[in-house]
Amino acid sequence: MDLAQLETTMAELGQPSYRTGQVWEWLARGADSFDQMSNLPADLRAQLAEKLPVSTLEVENSALSVDGTEKALFLTADQRPVEAVLMRYRDGRRSLCLSSQSGCPLTCTFCATGKMKFGRNLTESEILDQALHFRRIEDVNHTVFMGMGEPMMNLDNVLAACEKLPELGIANSHTTISTVGWLPGIQRVTTEGPAVRLALSLHAPNDQLRSKIMPVNDKYSMNEVVDAAREWRHVRKRKVFIEYLMLDGVNDSPELAHELAELLLPKNDFKVNLIPYNPTGEEYQGSPRQTIENFRQNLMKRGIHATVRLTRGRDIDAACGQLAAKANEVAEA
Ligand code: SF4
Repeated sequence: MDLAQLETTMAELGQPSYRTGQVWEWLARGADSFDQMSNLPADLRAQLAEKLPVSTLEVENSALSVDGTEKALFLTADQRPVEAVLMRYRDGRRSLCLSSQSGCPLTCTFCATGKMKFGRNLTESEILDQALHFRRIEDVNHTVFMGMGEPMMNLDNVLAACEKLPELGIANSHTTISTVGWLPGIQRVTTEGPAVRLALSLHAPNDQLRSKIMPVNDKYSMNEVVDAAREWRHVRKRKVFIEYLMLDGVNDSPELAHELAELLLPKNDFKVNLIPYNPTGEEYQGSPRQTIENFRQNLMKRGIHATVRLTRGRDIDAACGQLAAKANEVAEA
């Protein structure tokens, strides 16, 4: 729902401002039409249905994985592709992976989104409409901004959306903004915005290797970014998640595990998530399972808490790094 447009429309129709809030409350509880909004007068519901779509996004395609993961490909009103994913876990977590941009300008070498043309930042409403799409299917309780785009490059809209997610049932403490190290954004969320969580996609423990696989490292060096993450941890009093994609023969050696541990010590600031890589092209292969486990043990031995992330939705291209491969096809069609 375009919330600004909703407000304008209500004013044009001579409605009191609380009506906008009523519509939003219905949407946040999963309503998919004005018809369901029974505390609005029937003629107002009809007028709204004529003037406004309930979402800024059109569902172009959706896919369901054998593990229950569900992916939706949307198009914005100006035909920009956007993807979002709902991951269903056995313990009851229903976690959304949301996009903040259509495409991404940062060209990380392992990422499908980085290979597609950058479109634009998504609006607050376009971000929320991804979440509302899944909220209409079932209750949701976690969100990660790990879909298409770098959320810190669109921070005003991402933070505005984060402010509203609790009304959909997603507490700020269950919302994570993930960044590849966009320094001004990390610095901003240290003192500004709701108390969401921070994840830093590091993927390499030194500048040389990191710059090779993530060009953003040439702009903001690894040490600057890790220091900013420590500062965030100090101010926000929550551990920072370190995301580390396991790329076969690239960043998965015992020596690099040692270097990563050295970088992250003292141990209390970070928790490492090792992410099995889902190939998106020819360039990289995922590390074998045993290599990932050895890497994890090496970190744990040095006092760094590390876990291996469950891979979800691999069969529908919904796993990490795979968003956008199909969206790109749509964009180019
Ligand atoms: S990993 Fe994130 S920041 Fe890097 S290209 Fe992909 S979407 Fe952009």
